[in-house]
Amino acid sequence: MLIRTGDTVEVRTGNSRGTRARVLSVDPAHGKLVVEGVNRVYRHIKRSQKNPQGGRLSKEMPIDASNVLLVCSACGKASRLGVAVSDDGGKTRVCRKCGGEQGQLGRSKANR
Ligand SMILES: [Zn+2]
Repeated sequence: MLIRTGDTVEVRTGNSRGTRARVLSVDPAHGKLVVEGVNRVYRHIKRSQKNPQGGRLSKEMPIDASNVLLVCSACGKASRLGVAVSDDGGKTRVCRKCGGEQGQLGRSKANR
């Protein structure tokens, strides 16, 4: 999974199709991520001592990482990502459309 927290992505499916928003968190183990304002649900909260009013809490739920594309910071298009490996073993994300670099990835285990 190549999307990182803080990336801007475009949603490809569901009610929020076409929405561009920031990634709030990623869950690499499950291939899911939370996108700001996307897949928002309301949790209904009972009255309690902590929250005497009760009410509704709006919260984003994770969506599948395959449903979003990174918005390229170079060409501005939503595109798939490739990985370029440099001579010293460092990995860089690259836009498949324009080849623009989209930030370093961690080094692979073999090079640690
Ligand atoms: Zn690009």
